[in-house]
Amino acid sequence: MKYDICIIGGGVVGLAIAYYLKKFDRKLRVGVFEKRYFGYGGSTRNAGHFRVHFWTYENSKYASESIKLLMKFMGETGWNPTIMRSGYLWLISDEKVWKAYEDTNIRVWSRLGNPVIFMDIDEVSKKYPYLNLEGFIGAVFGPQDGKLHHDIVVYGYLDRFRRMDGEAHPYTPVLTINAKNGKVKGIDLGHKTVECEKVIVAAGEGSRILFDSLGIEIPIKIKRKELYVSEPYTLFIDPLVIDTREDSMGLYITQSLRGELMGSLDYPEAYDDLTHETTLEHYIVYAKKLVRLVPILRYSTIMRCWSGNYVTTPDNSHIMGRDPYWPEGLYVATGFSGHGFMLAPYTGFLMARHIIYGETPDIMKPYTPERFREGKLINESLVIG
Ligand SMILES: Cc1cc2nc3c(=O)[nH]c(=O)nc-3n(C[C@H](O)[C@H](O)[C@H](O)COP(=O)(O)OP(=O)(O)OC[C@H]3O[C@@H](n4cnc5c(N)ncnc54)[C@H](O)[C@@H]3O)c2cc1C
Repeated sequence: MKYDICIIGGGVVGLAIAYYLKKFDRKLRVGVFEKRYFGYGGSTRNAGHFRVHFWTYENSKYASESIKLLMKFMGETGWNPTIMRSGYLWLISDEKVWKAYEDTNIRVWSRLGNPVIFMDIDEVSKKYPYLNLEGFIGAVFGPQDGKLHHDIVVYGYLDRFRRMDGEAHPYTPVLTINAKNGKVKGIDLGHKTVECEKVIVAAGEGSRILFDSLGIEIPIKIKRKELYVSEPYTLFIDPLVIDTREDSMGLYITQSLRGELMGSLDYPEAYDDLTHETTLEHYIVYAKKLVRLVPILRYSTIMRCWSGNYVTTPDNSHIMGRDPYWPEGLYVATGFSGHGFMLAPYTGFLMARHIIYGETPDIMKPYTPERFREGKLINESLVIG
């Protein structure tokens, strides 16, 4: 087996890169290798939300560009991810936090054409009567943000890639990356090797192990997150509601287009757990915090739960491209720190242009892996959940 480019990881990031590589150059021989089924990782375990509001200018700008591509997704692929711009609603209890949102709105969001709306507590109470607003001073609403059906995006990219003669291999784990004399030579599947000159590691929680096989350290940590879905109810929670009180542990709640309540919080601190298990302990904490915020939900019934991982970096911003010290032909796109679904379209687009045309536009430069060596971090603290 021989390809020009092998992509390790069949999540939304690997598949978006694969799609754009073939879109820009149909003759390229591209193979995607996925250890389980396509979307097995975070890509089908997430909350399906997108936003253009981050604390840093870099991430806000990057997300704006990515959302523009998401909006064109149906036109490009023929798959409809049922996008709904229902907004994000951050409930604020602290004057300092309020001030930080005001400053960021001037410094970053308005500058990028995405201003947020500030609401006093009376306005919030009129618009969202189901919320218990005790202890809050107001809310910040991001009308440009929203939700979509994540599976459709994953399978849309996969379908279009295959239709352009891309080869996608499910249930094909990659054991190691082969490199010799400073150059990538291929990948090892255990029972056989695959030759190629370029390898892109987009393996989410599996990325670190693959780099280890080359003696390269990439600074990612894996943090487990659990998510709960209720029976469907009449749609009444339109935006993604985020409770920013410290003791709420980043609680968020929304409703899917089917009416299922969907939410989570940042508890417990479970690192490097690849079992994808869910725990009663988490559910109890979640249920208590949720009922405090939306009392009527004490009558709701959880239908199912799952867990997935945030693949985090020291600055909560993703890593893409390559480090000049790495073997020639080795690339990475991972470490999305809980917001990678929304960033995948633009990452696919930029990575494909970087690899085919050698382009590294200014918007991509801050995310290359050498930033950790050089101490040029993009410290992002607006992480949800
Ligand atoms: C509970 C939860 C909620 C989230 N909510 C959101 C949200 O609302 N919005 C948002 O934008 N993001 C959200 N995220 C984050 C988002 O899901 C991820 O950032 C995104 O899916 C990353 O995509 P990926 O393709 O990099 O990784 P993944 O989807 O994890 O894909 C990597 C793939 O690589 C495969 N793989 C690993 N090792 C190997 C190997 N050795 N060989 C072959 N294949 C391998 C894995 O099986 C996996 O399928 C959430 C995540 C979680 C867990």
